[in-house]
Amino acid sequence: MVYLKTDDEIALLKKSNQLVGLTLAEVAKHIKPGVTTRQLDAVAEEFIRDHGAVPTFKGYPNTHGQPFPGSICASVNDVVVHGIPSDEVLKEGDIISVDCGVSLDGFCGDSAYTFAVGEISPELQKLLEDTKQSLYLGIEQAVVGKRIGDIGNAVQNYCQANGFSVVREFVGHGIGREMHEAPAVPNYGASGRGMMLKNGLCIAIEPMIVMGNRNIYIERDGWTVRTVDHKPAAHFEHSIAVRPRGAEILSTFEFIDEVLTANKV
Ligand code: MG
Ligand code: MG
Repeated sequence: MVYLKTDDEIALLKKSNQLVGLTLAEVAKHIKPGVTTRQLDAVAEEFIRDHGAVPTFKGYPNTHGQPFPGSICASVNDVVVHGIPSDEVLKEGDIISVDCGVSLDGFCGDSAYTFAVGEISPELQKLLEDTKQSLYLGIEQAVVGKRIGDIGNAVQNYCQANGFSVVREFVGHGIGREMHEAPAVPNYGASGRGMMLKNGLCIAIEPMIVMGNRNIYIERDGWTVRTVDHKPAAHFEHSIAVRPRGAEILSTFEFIDEVLTANKV
Protein backbone atom coordinates (compact mmCIF):
# COMPACT_ATOMS: atom_id res chain seq x y z
CA MET A 1 0.00 0.00 0.00
CA VAL A 2 1.43 3.36 -1.07
CA TYR A 3 0.23 6.40 0.89
CA LEU A 4 0.45 9.73 -0.87
CA LYS A 5 0.84 12.53 1.68
CA THR A 6 -1.08 15.77 2.02
CA ASP A 7 0.76 19.10 2.32
CA ASP A 8 0.09 19.07 6.10
CA GLU A 9 1.58 15.60 6.42
CA ILE A 10 4.60 16.61 4.35
CA ALA A 11 5.13 19.59 6.67
CA LEU A 12 5.21 17.19 9.64
CA LEU A 13 7.59 14.84 7.80
CA LYS A 14 9.83 17.81 7.13
CA LYS A 15 9.87 18.70 10.83
CA SER A 16 10.94 15.15 11.77
CA ASN A 17 13.56 15.08 9.04
CA GLN A 18 15.01 18.47 9.99
CA LEU A 19 15.50 17.10 13.51
CA VAL A 20 17.39 14.17 12.00
CA GLY A 21 19.62 16.68 10.17
CA LEU A 22 20.29 18.51 13.42
CA THR A 23 21.03 15.22 15.21
CA LEU A 24 23.50 14.12 12.54
CA ALA A 25 25.23 17.49 12.89
CA GLU A 26 25.41 17.07 16.67
CA VAL A 27 26.98 13.63 16.14
CA ALA A 28 29.37 15.14 13.56
CA LYS A 29 30.79 17.45 16.24
CA HIS A 30 31.99 14.36 18.14
CA ILE A 31 33.44 12.32 15.26
CA LYS A 32 37.20 12.17 15.72
CA PRO A 33 39.91 9.59 16.36
CA GLY A 34 39.53 8.04 19.83
CA VAL A 35 35.75 8.24 20.13
CA THR A 36 33.65 5.07 20.28
CA THR A 37 30.52 4.51 18.24
CA ARG A 38 28.66 3.92 21.53
CA GLN A 39 29.56 7.48 22.59
CA LEU A 40 28.18 8.81 19.30
CA ASP A 41 25.00 6.82 19.88
CA ALA A 42 24.58 8.40 23.33
CA VAL A 43 25.00 11.89 21.86
CA ALA A 44 22.29 11.16 19.29
CA GLU A 45 19.83 9.60 21.72
CA GLU A 46 20.12 12.44 24.22
CA PHE A 47 19.74 15.05 21.48
CA ILE A 48 16.66 13.37 19.99
CA ARG A 49 14.91 12.96 23.35
CA ASP A 50 15.81 16.54 24.39
CA HIS A 51 13.86 17.67 21.32
CA GLY A 52 10.75 15.73 22.34
CA ALA A 53 11.21 12.98 19.78
CA VAL A 54 11.87 9.25 19.96
CA PRO A 55 14.79 7.47 18.23
CA THR A 56 12.92 5.27 15.75
CA PHE A 57 15.79 2.81 15.33
CA LYS A 58 15.93 1.86 19.02
CA GLY A 59 14.10 -1.46 19.40
CA TYR A 60 13.27 -1.66 15.69
CA PRO A 61 12.99 -5.37 14.86
CA ASN A 62 14.85 -7.14 12.06
CA THR A 63 13.24 -9.98 10.08
CA HIS A 64 14.03 -12.36 12.97
CA GLY A 65 12.40 -10.06 15.52
CA GLN A 66 15.73 -9.02 17.08
CA PRO A 67 15.48 -5.40 18.28
CA PHE A 68 18.15 -2.92 17.12
CA PRO A 69 19.96 -1.79 20.29
CA GLY A 70 21.05 1.71 19.20
CA SER A 71 19.57 5.08 18.28
CA ILE A 72 21.88 5.36 15.26
CA CYS A 73 23.40 2.86 12.88
CA ALA A 74 27.16 3.39 13.05
CA SER A 75 28.76 1.63 10.09
CA VAL A 76 32.56 1.85 9.94
CA ASN A 77 34.71 1.14 6.84
CA ASP A 78 33.58 -2.22 5.35
CA VAL A 79 30.26 -2.14 7.20
CA VAL A 80 27.67 -1.07 4.61
CA VAL A 81 24.70 -0.35 6.89
CA HIS A 82 23.10 -1.32 10.23
CA GLY A 83 26.31 -1.25 12.29
CA ILE A 84 25.51 -1.59 16.00
CA PRO A 85 27.02 1.12 18.24
CA SER A 86 29.80 -0.51 20.27
CA ASP A 87 33.11 0.05 22.03
CA GLU A 88 34.86 0.16 18.64
CA VAL A 89 37.21 3.15 18.70
CA LEU A 90 37.35 5.33 15.59
CA LYS A 91 40.82 5.92 14.20
CA GLU A 92 42.37 8.39 11.79
CA GLY A 93 41.56 7.44 8.19
CA ASP A 94 38.32 5.56 8.96
CA ILE A 95 34.98 6.39 7.40
CA ILE A 96 31.73 6.07 9.34
CA SER A 97 28.19 6.10 8.01
CA VAL A 98 25.76 7.44 10.59
CA ASP A 99 22.12 6.62 9.85
CA CYS A 100 19.49 8.18 12.09
CA GLY A 101 15.73 8.07 12.43
CA VAL A 102 13.33 9.96 14.67
CA SER A 103 9.61 9.84 15.35
CA LEU A 104 8.00 13.21 16.10
CA ASP A 105 4.30 14.12 16.10
CA GLY A 106 3.44 10.80 14.48
CA PHE A 107 5.83 11.07 11.53
CA CYS A 108 9.27 9.61 10.89
CA GLY A 109 12.49 11.21 9.72
CA ASP A 110 15.30 9.16 8.17
CA SER A 111 18.65 10.37 6.83
CA ALA A 112 22.25 9.20 6.70
CA TYR A 113 25.69 10.70 6.04
CA THR A 114 29.13 9.13 5.74
CA PHE A 115 31.87 11.03 7.57
CA ALA A 116 35.66 11.01 7.33
CA VAL A 117 37.51 10.43 10.61
CA GLY A 118 40.41 12.86 10.46
CA GLU A 119 42.32 12.69 7.18
CA ILE A 120 41.24 9.99 4.72
CA SER A 121 42.82 8.70 1.51
CA PRO A 122 41.93 10.31 -1.84
CA GLU A 123 40.28 7.01 -2.86
CA LEU A 124 37.95 7.12 0.14
CA GLN A 125 37.28 10.81 -0.44
CA LYS A 126 36.17 9.97 -3.98
CA LEU A 127 33.90 7.16 -2.72
CA LEU A 128 32.18 9.60 -0.34
CA GLU A 129 31.86 12.40 -2.92
CA ASP A 130 30.55 10.14 -5.67
CA THR A 131 28.05 8.39 -3.39
CA LYS A 132 26.71 11.75 -2.19
CA GLN A 133 26.55 13.01 -5.77
CA SER A 134 24.64 9.87 -6.85
CA LEU A 135 22.07 10.59 -4.15
CA TYR A 136 21.43 14.04 -5.63
CA LEU A 137 21.27 12.60 -9.16
CA GLY A 138 18.64 10.15 -7.91
CA ILE A 139 16.73 12.98 -6.23
CA GLU A 140 16.73 14.91 -9.54
CA GLN A 141 14.69 12.06 -11.03
CA ALA A 142 12.07 12.16 -8.25
CA VAL A 143 9.61 14.28 -10.22
CA VAL A 144 5.93 13.69 -10.96
CA GLY A 145 5.62 11.62 -14.13
CA LYS A 146 8.96 9.83 -13.82
CA ARG A 147 9.22 6.27 -12.50
CA ILE A 148 10.96 4.55 -9.58
CA GLY A 149 13.41 2.96 -12.04
CA ASP A 150 14.59 6.40 -13.17
CA ILE A 151 15.92 7.07 -9.66
CA GLY A 152 17.86 3.81 -9.34
CA ASN A 153 19.14 4.06 -12.89
CA ALA A 154 20.64 7.50 -12.25
CA VAL A 155 22.35 6.29 -9.05
CA GLN A 156 23.66 3.09 -10.63
CA ASN A 157 24.96 4.66 -13.85
CA TYR A 158 26.90 7.35 -12.02
CA CYS A 159 28.45 5.04 -9.42
CA GLN A 160 29.39 2.32 -11.87
CA ALA A 161 30.88 4.88 -14.30
CA ASN A 162 33.14 5.91 -11.40
CA GLY A 163 34.24 2.33 -10.77
CA PHE A 164 32.06 1.55 -7.77
CA SER A 165 29.43 -1.13 -7.17
CA VAL A 166 25.83 -0.80 -5.99
CA VAL A 167 24.52 -2.95 -3.14
CA ARG A 168 21.27 -4.66 -4.23
CA GLU A 169 19.98 -6.36 -1.08
CA PHE A 170 19.11 -3.12 0.72
CA VAL A 171 17.10 -0.31 -0.83
CA GLY A 172 15.34 2.95 -0.11
CA HIS A 173 11.68 3.04 0.90
CA GLY A 174 8.51 5.02 1.36
CA ILE A 175 8.39 7.05 4.57
CA GLY A 176 5.54 8.49 6.60
CA ARG A 177 3.86 7.39 9.81
CA GLU A 178 6.02 4.28 9.45
CA MET A 179 9.76 4.48 8.84
CA HIS A 180 9.54 1.83 6.14
CA GLU A 181 6.54 2.06 3.84
CA ALA A 182 5.96 1.01 0.24
CA PRO A 183 7.36 1.40 -2.35
CA ALA A 184 10.86 -0.06 -2.32
CA VAL A 185 13.33 2.37 -3.93
CA PRO A 186 16.28 0.41 -5.37
CA ASN A 187 19.59 2.07 -6.16
CA TYR A 188 19.73 0.24 -9.49
CA GLY A 189 17.34 -0.47 -12.32
CA ALA A 190 16.08 0.51 -15.73
CA SER A 191 14.82 3.99 -16.52
CA GLY A 192 11.16 4.18 -17.50
CA ARG A 193 10.35 1.10 -15.37
CA GLY A 194 8.57 0.69 -12.06
CA MET A 195 5.90 2.65 -10.25
CA MET A 196 4.92 6.05 -11.65
CA LEU A 197 5.89 8.87 -9.27
CA LYS A 198 2.93 10.94 -8.07
CA ASN A 199 2.65 14.24 -6.24
CA GLY A 200 2.95 13.68 -2.48
CA LEU A 201 4.85 10.40 -2.66
CA CYS A 202 7.42 10.55 0.16
CA ILE A 203 10.46 8.30 -0.09
CA ALA A 204 13.90 7.84 1.39
CA ILE A 205 16.58 7.54 -1.31
CA GLU A 206 19.73 5.94 0.10
CA PRO A 207 22.55 4.75 -2.16
CA MET A 208 24.77 2.11 -0.51
CA ILE A 209 27.92 2.12 -2.66
CA VAL A 210 31.03 -0.02 -2.29
CA MET A 211 34.59 0.27 -3.55
CA GLY A 212 34.94 -3.43 -4.39
CA ASN A 213 32.36 -5.92 -5.61
CA ARG A 214 28.79 -5.72 -4.39
CA ASN A 215 28.62 -8.96 -2.38
CA ILE A 216 27.64 -8.51 1.25
CA TYR A 217 26.81 -10.66 4.25
CA ILE A 218 24.99 -10.16 7.55
CA GLU A 219 26.94 -10.92 10.71
CA ARG A 220 25.76 -13.28 13.45
CA ASP A 221 24.40 -10.31 15.43
CA GLY A 222 21.57 -10.28 12.87
CA TRP A 223 22.22 -6.67 11.88
CA THR A 224 25.73 -5.71 10.74
CA VAL A 225 25.94 -5.72 6.93
CA ARG A 226 29.53 -6.08 5.71
CA THR A 227 31.22 -6.38 2.31
CA VAL A 228 32.54 -9.89 1.60
CA ASP A 229 35.81 -8.48 0.20
CA HIS A 230 36.09 -6.07 3.18
CA LYS A 231 36.44 -3.08 0.87
CA PRO A 232 34.89 0.12 2.22
CA ALA A 233 31.28 1.22 1.74
CA ALA A 234 29.53 4.59 1.77
CA HIS A 235 25.91 5.48 2.45
CA PHE A 236 24.04 8.79 2.08
CA GLU A 237 20.29 9.20 2.53
CA HIS A 238 17.70 11.92 2.15
CA SER A 239 13.95 11.71 2.68
CA ILE A 240 12.13 13.59 -0.07
CA ALA A 241 8.63 14.41 -1.32
CA VAL A 242 7.86 14.02 -5.01
CA ARG A 243 6.52 17.28 -6.42
CA PRO A 244 5.50 18.39 -9.93
CA ARG A 245 8.51 20.65 -10.46
CA GLY A 246 11.11 18.53 -8.67
CA ALA A 247 11.67 16.81 -5.39
CA GLU A 248 11.32 18.65 -2.12
CA ILE A 249 14.18 17.46 0.12
CA LEU A 250 12.72 17.02 3.61
CA SER A 251 15.94 16.11 5.42
CA THR A 252 19.04 18.31 5.24
CA PHE A 253 22.84 18.17 5.28
CA GLU A 254 23.01 21.93 5.88
CA PHE A 255 23.70 21.62 9.61
CA ILE A 256 26.30 18.91 8.99
CA ASP A 257 28.04 21.14 6.43
CA GLU A 258 28.23 23.92 9.01
CA VAL A 259 29.96 21.59 11.50
CA LEU A 260 32.35 20.17 8.90
CA THR A 261 33.27 23.66 7.67
CA ALA A 262 33.90 24.86 11.23
CA ASN A 263 36.11 21.81 11.87
CA LYS A 264 38.31 22.66 8.88
CA VAL A 265 39.17 26.17 10.08
MG1 MG B 1 18.24 5.63 7.25
MG1 MG C 1 16.12 4.58 5.23
